[in-house]
Amino acid sequence: MRTLVPGRIRRDLPALIVALFALLPGRAFAAEDNHTGFRVVQERTDDSVTLIMKSDYCIEYTVTLEATLKNMTPSRAVPFTVDAAGRRSFVLARFKVTDKTRPWHYEYNYHWEYGGRRNSTTNDADYAMPFGPGRYVVMQGPRGTFSHFAGSGSENAVDWDVPEGTIICAAREGRVVGVRDDSTVSGVDPKFKPLGNYVIIKHADGTFADYHHLQTGGAMAKIGDEVKVGQPIGLSGQTGFASKPHLHFMVFQAIDGKKVLSLPFRLKTDHGTFTDFIRGRSY
Ligand SMILES: [Zn+2]
Repeated sequence: MRTLVPGRIRRDLPALIVALFALLPGRAFAAEDNHTGFRVVQERTDDSVTLIMKSDYCIEYTVTLEATLKNMTPSRAVPFTVDAAGRRSFVLARFKVTDKTRPWHYEYNYHWEYGGRRNSTTNDADYAMPFGPGRYVVMQGPRGTFSHFAGSGSENAVDWDVPEGTIICAAREGRVVGVRDDSTVSGVDPKFKPLGNYVIIKHADGTFADYHHLQTGGAMAKIGDEVKVGQPIGLSGQTGFASKPHLHFMVFQAIDGKKVLSLPFRLKTDHGTFTDFIRGRSY
């Protein structure tokens, strides 16, 4: 049950924001996303600042940089968005002091999202039920009124009503590119949105699947694993923004580093093929 507000930072997947201010050589503060190892490191000289994007994992992601500069010239116009597929470290931008005799100032924000930008928004693949054999009830479908709002980044997500500890299986084969399972908290308050545990799997066509709200310590896959359909990847829970245990399942792609696009998906089970998911019905 995650909420995405268009135009705002997507906080329920690991996105992060760093604000940094410098009033001549001086104060700075920064925050890091320690769970995923994404961060911007700055290298400063007396007349320039170089922002270096670093990630501990060679995964595909998209990063957007915004900056406000006074008496500084950027190496490329801001804001901008770049794909960072598999690069552990690269120069994001350089800000150079324009006139050294005058005060200079900079501040910046950056945001990242899993996935490279795709030209296509198709999702022509079969997805298995992300659990073992059986039928499962939809707690909230696409364009739901709790958090899968129409027009939001999770518009096409499905919340499956499963008890804590249910084994989650890969709905489609792919490579694990994101894992978090150290969160211990949950609640029905947007402040819990960044605190869900998850496994993210990248598919061959560039789409991703998000398996969200896993229980603490509930990941059964690690970054880089190649997983097959039906392979156990985690245990369900209710970490993050959730009122009860369930699995938030979503297929998505990156638009830019601030927002993702969820895609409709086709569920194929041994009793049918489904593209509509209605709250309260079993599939
Ligand atoms: Zn949800």
